[in-house]
Amino acid sequence: MMLYRKIHLVRPLSYQVKILEDRCKGCQLCINVCPKSLLKPSTRANQKGYLVIEWEDSKVGGCMGCGACYEVCPEQAIRIYAQIEK
Ligand code: SF4
Ligand code: SF4
Repeated sequence: MMLYRKIHLVRPLSYQVKILEDRCKGCQLCINVCPKSLLKPSTRANQKGYLVIEWEDSKVGGCMGCGACYEVCPEQAIRIYAQIEK
């Protein structure tokens, strides 16, 4: 007989994406994979002279934490944080 235990699933309320600008090389791979078009090029250069990427989550149904941008970034310049209810 199979026994089941009750567990509490935690669903994030929202996601925050941070770009580590000193690592970004402006390749724009992340822009192309974001299904919500939340990443865009900026006019701001980092210390190495690359135009860094900006993340904006003001759109309806914003970031869904899919991780596509994180996975594609060759410089490990993207971090995704989940906001969860306490
Ligand atoms: S986690 Fe997904 S939806 Fe959020 S910014 Fe990255 S690619 Fe876009
Ligand atoms: S994929 Fe990474 S290195 Fe390339 S533009 Fe995006 S954050 Fe910058």
